[in-house]
Amino acid sequence: MANVKDIISLMSAPSAEDSALIQRAHEFAAEAHKDHKRFSGEPYLVHLEATAKGLAALDMSANTVVAGLLHDSIEDANIPPERIEKEFGKEVRFLVEGVTKLGRFKYRGAERHRESLRKLLVATGQDARVLIIKLMDRLHNMQTLSHVPEHKRQRIALETLEIYAAIAHRLGMGVVRRELEDLAFEYAFPEEYKKTKQLLTERSKETLERLEKMSRTLRKEFAKEGMTSFHTDYRVKGLYSLQRKLNRKGGDIEKIYDIAALRVIMKDIPECYRVLGIVNNLWQPLPNKIKDYIAFPKPNGYQSLHTTVFSGDGGIVEVQIRTEEMHREAEYGITAHVIYKDGDGPDSPASRAGGKRTSSFDWIKSLIPGFRRSPNEPETPVAKKEAPKRTRYGSFGGPEWLADLGDHMEDPDIERTLKTDIFSHRVFVFTPTGDVVDLPIHSSPIDFAYAIHSDIGDHVAGAKLNGKLVPLDTELHNGDIVEIVTKKAASPKTKWLDFAKTSLARRHIRNAIEKDKKV
Ligand code: MN
Repeated sequence: MANVKDIISLMSAPSAEDSALIQRAHEFAAEAHKDHKRFSGEPYLVHLEATAKGLAALDMSANTVVAGLLHDSIEDANIPPERIEKEFGKEVRFLVEGVTKLGRFKYRGAERHRESLRKLLVATGQDARVLIIKLMDRLHNMQTLSHVPEHKRQRIALETLEIYAAIAHRLGMGVVRRELEDLAFEYAFPEEYKKTKQLLTERSKETLERLEKMSRTLRKEFAKEGMTSFHTDYRVKGLYSLQRKLNRKGGDIEKIYDIAALRVIMKDIPECYRVLGIVNNLWQPLPNKIKDYIAFPKPNGYQSLHTTVFSGDGGIVEVQIRTEEMHREAEYGITAHVIYKDGDGPDSPASRAGGKRTSSFDWIKSLIPGFRRSPNEPETPVAKKEAPKRTRYGSFGGPEWLADLGDHMEDPDIERTLKTDIFSHRVFVFTPTGDVVDLPIHSSPIDFAYAIHSDIGDHVAGAKLNGKLVPLDTELHNGDIVEIVTKKAASPKTKWLDFAKTSLARRHIRNAIEKDKKV
């Protein structure tokens, strides 16, 4: 059982119960998938372990790690959800069912579907843990994509770029995004990948030597100033992100100054600004390239000070200055804080790391039911009572990407915007072939039928929800698969107006009834 130990050892403070639970889930998964193999010929369990390891490394709760081990058990091993609940509890069942629903759609590359898919992902993933499990699942699938039949690879790679990398970005998980993008890039656009990789190899050696030199100069300067608590780091730009930037700059690599960037990580915000001064004093900064993302964070919560300077030996280099906490957030996004622990006491890794509970991710933490407030904390979002914090969001009062998601964003109150407008006003359901239909909440199969086509709506004879026949006034829920049974002789009924919600459906029903009367 060395593999279970590997998973548990990645968690920072697993209790004896956590370990036992994960052990049990591992045995359960091994049994459920014992006849399955991956395309690589490896036992299927390898994939489940890899997913669970990813989650453990992000320090997710035991329940989330367990859900990682079981994430394919409903879909691929026909385990009934009830059994998962019986063995591992309601929460694990909820997470596994959430991941199963997300897995049911297929990316078809059509522009009009792309935005719906993103909406769907966010809606069905209204518990962010579902999305994070899905991201770790996808990461391992991308790492093993070479074993997948060739004709499937490009679709999966494009889906990864368009959907999953975008989701990782929106959750602020820079590390996951970069890895997904670079793995997918090779399969999605092999020619561009080769070219970009060569360009980066040629360029990065020289740049890295330059960064090393600058870093030495900087360390000496810090010593003179008596600053001792810091570290430096480099980051080489991801290949896919470099390629996109190249496209924006007309293919001219000379115009890209952040192929590699020097990172300076300081202990607090005042020191970050002090370092910005030191850097701009040591090296000539480029005009209009000093960016204060601490005062004005990016829409996904990213914070840092950036400056681009002439290195003095003919080069131009970007320097990124941030605190340790900002650094963790930039790399791991919402998972940077240990917010999934079932009870994070004073010994939790978050408090050991000095992590503050208030951050730019509070809005998304509110999506996570497992996020515990301390008993003396009021119900209001943490961000609100921290008056000295600057507004972290755009002028509409919500993270900008959320504004892209719907037409219901006028209300400036973040909590209301998230909970009420996005997740409570719309439902996202599937056609049997996996296309997504976006409907108002409390919609019925009739609304669904008319949303597909008026001919279908006008001839509804029955409806199946997730494979079962249901009455036509059944309310649709997020993730339902809806199938409409039509008959030529069927026609709209007056009583449909009692439960049809969309104006489209209601108009068609009324027209049909009117026509009927005239005949
Ligand atoms: Mn999987």
